[in-house]
Amino acid sequence: MSNYKSEKLSRIKNINYFFGDKKTKADAFTLNQVHGDNVVILDKAPEANMQISGDSIITNIENFSIGVKTADCLPILLTDESSSFVGAVHAGWRGTFYKIICKTIDKIEVNFKVKPKDIVAVIGPSIADCCFEVNEDLYKKFVENFPDFNSCFLDTESQKRIDLKKINTLLLEKKGVREIEVLSECTKCNLNFYSYRRDKSKFQNQISKINRN
Ligand SMILES: [Zn+2]
Repeated sequence: MSNYKSEKLSRIKNINYFFGDKKTKADAFTLNQVHGDNVVILDKAPEANMQISGDSIITNIENFSIGVKTADCLPILLTDESSSFVGAVHAGWRGTFYKIICKTIDKIEVNFKVKPKDIVAVIGPSIADCCFEVNEDLYKKFVENFPDFNSCFLDTESQKRIDLKKINTLLLEKKGVREIEVLSECTKCNLNFYSYRRDKSKFQNQISKINRN
């Protein structure tokens, strides 16, 4: 087990989860992640070695671990107080831009009849505002896409930075989710984690997972 604990998830009964780092191994079902906004709903366990493309999984299958692989992107784990479902979301800058977290909340409400106010969402270790520097072009696109989110953007003479954790937090709040926790660890600053920006490897990532008993 890793040390990156969520207070909110740890107190929910019948949930097992962790946010992984370089040392963590996990046996969990993961999607073929493509930096898009497709939400996959699983109502039965997929056959072994089945490949499904997408960046968000939600399921109510018991004793079935779902995972998300990241190296700077945001892993977001979801459930509710009665652990009636679990979700694992991969939100990098593209997923954030396309608001994959909002699409996930909508699908949870429709498919599992869980109201946003009852959802618990935890944003795990990922690149933080200290390190997510972007070029002028991307910065402009984000500011236009999120016109009310001034506090998520830092524009100095030398650099432009975006706070992806905060954008996802504000999106969750806008959706009516009240139980939100953000783990502050930055994957680029903290050498315990793989970081795409720091290591430049597309093949190294940590896994985070969740399941309901
Ligand atoms: Zn950092």
